[in-house]
Amino acid sequence: MTTTAPADVRTLTHWVSGAALPGSGDRFSDVTDPATGAVTARLPLASAAEVGDVVAAARSAFPAWRDTSLTKRTQVLFRFRELLNARAGELAELITAEHGKVASDAAGEVARGQEVVEFACGMPHLLKGSATENASTGVDVASIRQPLGVVGIISPFNFPAMVPMWFFPVAIAAGNTVVLKPSEKVPSAALWIAELWREAGLPDGVFNVVNGDKEAVDALLTDPDVKAISFVGSTPIARYVYETGTAHGKRVQALGGAKNHMVVLPDADLDLAADQAINAGFGSAGERCMAVSALVAVGDIADTLVDKIAERARALRTGDGRRGCDMGPLVTRAAQDRVTGYVEAGEAEGATVVVDGRVDTFDADGEGFFVGPTLLDHVTTDMSVYTDEIFGPVLSVLRVESYDAAVDMINANPYGNGTALFTCDGGVARRFQNEVEVGMIGINVPVPVPMAYYSFGGWKNSLFGDTHAHGTEGVHFYTRGKVVTTRWPDPSHRGVDLGFPTNG
Ligand code: NAD
Repeated sequence: MTTTAPADVRTLTHWVSGAALPGSGDRFSDVTDPATGAVTARLPLASAAEVGDVVAAARSAFPAWRDTSLTKRTQVLFRFRELLNARAGELAELITAEHGKVASDAAGEVARGQEVVEFACGMPHLLKGSATENASTGVDVASIRQPLGVVGIISPFNFPAMVPMWFFPVAIAAGNTVVLKPSEKVPSAALWIAELWREAGLPDGVFNVVNGDKEAVDALLTDPDVKAISFVGSTPIARYVYETGTAHGKRVQALGGAKNHMVVLPDADLDLAADQAINAGFGSAGERCMAVSALVAVGDIADTLVDKIAERARALRTGDGRRGCDMGPLVTRAAQDRVTGYVEAGEAEGATVVVDGRVDTFDADGEGFFVGPTLLDHVTTDMSVYTDEIFGPVLSVLRVESYDAAVDMINANPYGNGTALFTCDGGVARRFQNEVEVGMIGINVPVPVPMAYYSFGGWKNSLFGDTHAHGTEGVHFYTRGKVVTTRWPDPSHRGVDLGFPTNG
């Protein structure tokens, strides 16, 4: 954390009521370019009082936005979509510059976020209630859904655009106003998106960005004007956010960490499985909540599969994401040190390092935070490389004798975000999707991220709360139901009757 700005480093802001707002405090953090290690910006960390002001701005924008017709609200979303299509490349570049992921991966992230905008453009249909005529004689009943008010979104570093976009298009289209607190490691995407909203014609105060750390999060969790919190991050913080937010009367969905298993059965296409293990294990340098980190090889295919994966891993080019490399750096020096620490621990605990990413030649200038693709074999469930979420380019191979042993391993794991099965046997695949205790499952698909019109979310320690992100569950999360029973006066209804009303 710094308090003084080097001369060539930008100072970032918050975004409130349709304009950039400089921080008013003296706490700042550094934003770095992970491929070079250079500090590129300093970020103001909001105080609780500053967060309170941002929430107040969002609160005062709420009544007018709630009462704006659905047609006009969705017209703004359509304009946002068009602008983003035209300028997606700018956003992807910002993501690569602060997160480090390679350009094609950053573009893919923006495209997956855009799918949620497109889903939310259908809000008039999604918000349709139901109505019953003559539920009782002359009495009609209708159900409607209404927005909550100010909603808070707290996002992680690994998807600077897509994760916030899982939430805010739906929240805004449904008539809420938003305060987004992005990860302090990657704040520029959120500020860029805020400007795009202004250009799209979103009224001031409907979408706000407050930058900060724990102090800002705690202020959002305890502010009575914040009605709901969508959080994504590591499991300990997700649990804390869920417990604190709900204790303060809020609706909370808190998505946490992951340990995703990819099971390969003896009848699988091993070349396909090896390709997909590489994509899912090392894409985004393993910094995806849906990354595969545990490859479970069933039966006698393990040696062949490990050879195939190792050959592919050695061919990957790691370096600056702007140079057409396959894999970029980790997000910070601390992340790099943590990941290499796990590899060292795995080796000490008896794992075989088949491909070692702890090398120091990468296609980049400066002092980037690189770890190359790393493949560990003979990993067992008691090793820290298995028990902990590493969040780096480390793929661990665990060998088991049977399908049942693979499923038992997955179900015993405290996380339940994603899993994949590779097989050519439809019967086993069907059993797997039925038996496995995980929220998102891929059959011969390694990173089974649901489309925007389905909902995204894990089980067990990968999600606290009842509601998953986007899809119809997202619409329900950001609205609450009302049922209206109506009778238009008729003289025949007069008369006192204290009995409980029944149908008649
Ligand atoms: P993180 O938990 O460190 O941070 C997430 C957010 O919480 C950030 O905005 C951060 O500022 C805030 N925060 C950090 N420490 C806090 C504290 N003590 N109190 C209150 N708020 C705090 O997570 P990260 O490192 O940014 O992101 C990586 C993690 O996110 C991984 O565990 C990954 O699996 C998870 N993730 C999960 C999903 C999912 O869908 N389940 C998706 C993306 C990322």
